[in-house]
Amino acid sequence: MAEETIFSKIIRREIPADILYQDDLVTAFRDITPKAPTHVLIIPNHLIPTTNDIKASDEKALGRMMSVAAKLAQEAGIAEDGYRLIMNCNHHGGQEVFHVHMHLLGGHPLGPMLS
Ligand code: ADP
Repeated sequence: MAEETIFSKIIRREIPADILYQDDLVTAFRDITPKAPTHVLIIPNHLIPTTNDIKASDEKALGRMMSVAAKLAQEAGIAEDGYRLIMNCNHHGGQEVFHVHMHLLGGHPLGPMLS
C-alpha cells in the first residue's frame, strides 16, 4: 500500500492550497515555490506514486490531467506563447513528492530543457 503524501491532504482540503480546478478525477493548484510566473501542479485525485505505477485503469484521470492543463494554460493567458508540461519520475527524474503530478510552467521563455 503506497504512502499518502501532502498532496492527498490538499485534495481533501485538509491543508491550504491555491486550488484552481477540481473535479471527480483531478485537482490543480499553484506550486508553493513557483519556478516560473505560472507554475501549477495537476494531479490525479487517487494516489499513483510514480509514472511507473500508471495502469490502464488510470488513463481517464491521466487524460483529464492533460485537458485540464490545456484549459488552465488558456485561462492563464500563456497558451499562445507556449509553456512546458513536466512529470518527474523517481530519483534521476528529480521527483520529490510521490504522488504523480504534472507541472504546468509558463509565463516567460523557459529556455532549452536539456543543456
Ligand atoms: P521537484 O521539487 O524537484 O520539482 P517534484 O516533481 O516531485 O520535484 O515536484 C514537487 C513539487 O511540489 C515542487 O515543485 C514543490 O514546490 C511542490 N510542492 C510541495 N509541497 C507543496 C504544497 N504544500 N503546495 C504546493 N506545492 C507544493
